[in-house]
Amino acid sequence: MNIGLFRILFKEKKLSLSHPRLLIYQELSNAPSPLSPLEIYQSLLKKRKKIGLTSIYRSLDLFESLGIVFKIANGSAVKYKLCELESHHHHIVCKECGNVVELNFCDISDWSKKVAESTGYQVVDHQLNFFGYCKACKH
Ligand SMILES: [Zn+2]
Ligand SMILES: [Zn+2]
Ligand SMILES: [Zn+2]
Repeated sequence: MNIGLFRILFKEKKLSLSHPRLLIYQELSNAPSPLSPLEIYQSLLKKRKKIGLTSIYRSLDLFESLGIVFKIANGSAVKYKLCELESHHHHIVCKECGNVVELNFCDISDWSKKVAESTGYQVVDHQLNFFGYCKACKH
């Protein structure tokens, strides 16, 4: 998601785009690979921008709920990747190096139908992650 869309999204949701939120967005947007909250904290500190770790966690939670970032949990370690795709999509995570690729297709309509039929629920949303080994890591 580019900075223009990022700003528009905050405006649409009537959320304030504070300076810390903008700085965190920039860190994620410049990072070649997913970042942990601590890595964001340390990187900002190096640029003489001191933002509390709690505030970083809260902002990342907000970004996640807005679909701006993808949260990768590996045991107790958590990293965040800025999503490039704006509409509904899925991710595949490398179990070795933690790299993430976004998948711009979603083909689970048959599965959704089965879920609806077997439970009587009206299905409105789903989340699905893939895990595996990337080209560089696979054996
Ligand atoms: Zn994504
Ligand atoms: Zn890998
Ligand atoms: Zn989907």
